[in-house]
Amino acid sequence: MEKIKRFILNEKDIPTRWYNIVPDMKNKPLPMLHPGTRQPLKPQDLYPVFAEALAEQELNTTDTWIDIPDEVREQYKVYRSTPLVRAYGLEKALDTPAHIYFKNESVSPVGSHKLNSALAQAYYCKKQGLENITTETGAGQWGTALSYAAKAFGLNLIVYMVKISFEQKPYRRSLMETWGAKVIPSPSVTTKAGQKIIAANPTYKGSLGTAISEAIEVATQTPNCRYTLGSVLSHVSLHQTVIGLEAEKQMEMAGEYPDVVIGCFGGGSNFSGISFPFLRRNILEGKTTRFVTAEPASCPKLTRGVFQYDFGDEAGYTPLIPMFTLGHEFSPAHIHAGGLRYHGAGTIISQLLRDGLIEAVDIQQLDSFKAGILFAQTEGIIPAPESAHAIAAAVTEALKAKEEGKAKTILFNLSGHGLIDMTAYDQYLSGKLSNYSLPDEEIANNTAKLEKII
Ligand SMILES: *Cc1c(COP(=O)(O)O)cnc(C)c1O
Repeated sequence: MEKIKRFILNEKDIPTRWYNIVPDMKNKPLPMLHPGTRQPLKPQDLYPVFAEALAEQELNTTDTWIDIPDEVREQYKVYRSTPLVRAYGLEKALDTPAHIYFKNESVSPVGSHKLNSALAQAYYCKKQGLENITTETGAGQWGTALSYAAKAFGLNLIVYMVKISFEQKPYRRSLMETWGAKVIPSPSVTTKAGQKIIAANPTYKGSLGTAISEAIEVATQTPNCRYTLGSVLSHVSLHQTVIGLEAEKQMEMAGEYPDVVIGCFGGGSNFSGISFPFLRRNILEGKTTRFVTAEPASCPKLTRGVFQYDFGDEAGYTPLIPMFTLGHEFSPAHIHAGGLRYHGAGTIISQLLRDGLIEAVDIQQLDSFKAGILFAQTEGIIPAPESAHAIAAAVTEALKAKEEGKAKTILFNLSGHGLIDMTAYDQYLSGKLSNYSLPDEEIANNTAKLEKII
């Protein structure tokens, strides 16, 4: 029989609804708390910061299925469905009995999965009559995706870009500016939060936490403006479920069902997106698929962080979020997978991990690049340094299957391509990158500062 390499859905089979996992969870995530009153957050508390529809989605614990607006679905058609690909080349190189599949989110116009939520968020902001939005970006992928989406829906956008990435990844800035956004390196003197951090540490190269503080400050002080976030929050994971919902249908086309589903982990959006529709079937149908997050050893919140209420940003503007965290003052090493450099995880992911419904592994930087290069050489696609963490975890699973002499079906999410990350590959290839594990002491120092709410 002829081998099929790529599985693609017809336009009419692109999902019409997103999947909200919370109603199906036996143990619900703990509530986010208002930073002032310490009371559970209500949607209205979020209205000054987020578009109302997004605030409602964030706290929606009752509706399992949420309709994808037609306008968003029309935009999805530009690049969806994304292909599900059987990685025959990688399987052969590993000489494994495992069947390896990947969902290729790198085919979006911006090169990553981030567009799935950017389009939804820009749409709801526009629908509410807003004219301006702000955001932060780490490696630049979220800012790029939102720039595209803001242009698609006719909004003005300011992006605070972590300074180290602004310097290391100039082409991301060019992409954002090409799609019409204004990009400011963070920390900056344009906000109180930024001024304070620069005063304390003039050479600071920034972090996502700082950039978030700046973007929220501007959003709440500019007329007709709201903030948007590309990961961590539940409504972002919701939008990303379009990935897993497509993958469910595509795996069916392939005649297989995954034994293990893998995603790299920054704040949790691409992992949630590929996993939740399959996890639903563990919860409701008793399937036994394993779900593995792959995070960098230099930013190990799921494998070594604490579960506690913490702020989502450095300045403490956000609600208190119950999550696995390294502490909001954690300043990560300058590893190249910038999109994975965030101190915390989302509330849903954190609860699922506590309940043992998902697993976490940490990946060393050199192992991620080694896996990324093997993937490029066997499957042809240069993966984003973030996605290479998922590939490394998939390789480990495939080699385990070989050792055990057992067939197994592995599905991982290729969250993005690395064509704008070649500086990082260059450094790896010339031997300039190293591994970095966070010392226990640094984790203990940062997490000791957290208030013991739990
Ligand atoms: C942002 C990003 C990530 C990490 O974010 P998650 O919310 O954890 O998905 C991973 N891969 C790529 C390509 C990204 O752009």
